[in-house]
Amino acid sequence: MQPALIVHGGAWDIPDEAVSACNEGCRNALAAGWPILVKGGSALDAVEAAVIVLENDPVFDAGFGSHLNRDGNVECDAIVMDAATLRAGAAAGLRRIKNPIRLARKIWEDCPHMMLAAEGAERFAQKSGLPLCDPADLISDAEHVAWLQCREDQHAAIHHRGHEQGTVGAVAMDREGRLFAATSTGGTCCKLPGRVGDSPLIGCGCYADCEAGGVSCTGYGEAIMKIIMAKTAADFLRRDPLPGETEIAAAKRAAQDAVDLLARRGKGTGGLILLDRNGNSGFAFNTPRMAYGYVNSDGAFVTAV
Ligand code: ASP
Repeated sequence: MQPALIVHGGAWDIPDEAVSACNEGCRNALAAGWPILVKGGSALDAVEAAVIVLENDPVFDAGFGSHLNRDGNVECDAIVMDAATLRAGAAAGLRRIKNPIRLARKIWEDCPHMMLAAEGAERFAQKSGLPLCDPADLISDAEHVAWLQCREDQHAAIHHRGHEQGTVGAVAMDREGRLFAATSTGGTCCKLPGRVGDSPLIGCGCYADCEAGGVSCTGYGEAIMKIIMAKTAADFLRRDPLPGETEIAAAKRAAQDAVDLLARRGKGTGGLILLDRNGNSGFAFNTPRMAYGYVNSDGAFVTAV
């Protein structure tokens, strides 16, 4: 199989001054994941490597630099899903995990359950050999200042550089045809403590089925949950192409139809990236901008905001 990789850094009103950092972040994520696939490594390793780079980049809302909740704490969610088995590993409400996607992977690998939350998830992390960090290590200066401004004034996107969302995700297919999707987020800014959005929920923020494709979503979680957007997009990938339509065009149409449904029935904004079961990529968003990147058929990295 020809390997394939697509990543995103969130669908939001990305201001002009953040565009180059978002492009660079997506390029760095491709640079972390793509060599793994080229050398014959696994799609799981590739999505994990790409998402770790995005989590570590404070321009995105995941891992370090996540939005703070109303109490001034970071609470992260992450998921990884295996298209072959439909098994996922997901974790929510994490306050002491530097790279939440690593814990999602451990849950996928070693846990009898598919999703763990909060303190129990962190206990599982420790048992699996993942160190816990100080919660303060996840807080960037920019997000702390934004939180202080929201507290003094009222919560407003303007305090977050127009940055209401900014989840990250990756979908990869390796030479063996294995397909994995992953999503990681700090959630929405000034959320209530304990709020969990779409991102770590199977079918909402992430889905992968080798009979359809793999999907990672971003956007307003409460709306994405209403239309189970990742599973909905995957189901659109099951449709036969229209007469004369290429597989690539059909993948793009599946992405667009899911985002149209998000607007029409979910009354929300967001976006998604996907690979169909043959590795054709697609993406769509109805926000002013989305940060994304993918690898062309000639191996060139394409990023855009
Ligand atoms: N979907 C995420 C959430 O609602 C936010 C985002 O995509 O930026 O938690």
